[in-house]
Amino acid sequence: MTGSLTVVGLGPGNPDQITPEALLAVASATDFFGYFPYIDRLNLRPDQRRHASDNREELARAKAAIDLAARGGKVCVVSGGDPGVFAMAAAVCEAIDEGPAEWRDIDLSIVPGVTAMLAVAAKAGAPLGHDFCAISLSNNLKPWAIIEKRLVAAATAGFVMAFYNPISKARPHQLDEAFEILRANLPGTVPVIFGRAAGRPDEAIRIVPLAEAQGDMADMATCVIVGTTETKLIERTGNRPIVYSPRFLRESVQ
Ligand code: SAH
Repeated sequence: MTGSLTVVGLGPGNPDQITPEALLAVASATDFFGYFPYIDRLNLRPDQRRHASDNREELARAKAAIDLAARGGKVCVVSGGDPGVFAMAAAVCEAIDEGPAEWRDIDLSIVPGVTAMLAVAAKAGAPLGHDFCAISLSNNLKPWAIIEKRLVAAATAGFVMAFYNPISKARPHQLDEAFEILRANLPGTVPVIFGRAAGRPDEAIRIVPLAEAQGDMADMATCVIVGTTETKLIERTGNRPIVYSPRFLRESVQ
């Protein structure tokens, strides 16, 4: 039996931001693995089966999905945003890498999606217009000391930074610690964008200078974008400012 495994990104939450390729992949699969809210976003047919699981169970979910595909299933693993950005595509690759040799021959495809930082950036203007990086602030899968090192490196190298997983109930103070590290390495005027639930009905976008940025301005559904000394605000009357990072860099900037 030849099964297939497709890892699909559903975008940030706005149905208009699901790609036609992702919709086609969903229509042609019969078994769906993913975190409950993502599976709930699909309008599955009665012949399509749900295997929803909790957030923390990525590797077990990946293995179960691969196992079903290896036995001939037409399997779809769903992620929010892009599946390759802090999400299920890497978990699936880890499982294949560690798993039985026959898993390597599975018909695997990864369907990209609009990742959170792109959705938030588009709402704010063009803060990712020049060099940028993305950092997950969760220390579930890496030590906090590494995160601190990367924050300093990225800030001093002049990268715009997008923070995923900025805060959680188990880690209420880390975003404030991250802002302290950034304030020691960047001017307080650098714009910080808090993009919450971009593309969803409860979306909220807030822009503050780094000097005023606080951890409690974010929750688990927020992607935080921190600008550089080059990132600019275009002030408007009656509308929030447009934030952008110019495509060029002045020679005086190190
Ligand atoms: N694969 C996802 C990211 C998963 S990590 C993607 O590509 O977007 C989960 C983190 O993504 C959240 O903690 C939050 O930082 C961010 N995120 C996901 N959806 C978001 C949205 N609609 N608006 C803002 N941030 C979002």
